[in-house]
Amino acid sequence: MKTAKAKTAAPSISQPVWCQRCCIRIAPYDLRTVYQGRDYHRDCFVKLSQENGKARKN
Ligand SMILES: [Zn+2]
Repeated sequence: MKTAKAKTAAPSISQPVWCQRCCIRIAPYDLRTVYQGRDYHRDCFVKLSQENGKARKN
């Protein structure tokens, strides 16, 4: 008998992810923000939102 329970229970983080702003790969342990289907470092997304924010007041 073969034991067919040898499946690797890997999470869905198998694919490398690149930041859409700085083009540096986002490590699995990095803080990541997904916005409109694109991945950013959290810090990069903050800067990006500030650049595109046009000084919008809250
Ligand atoms: Zn980045």
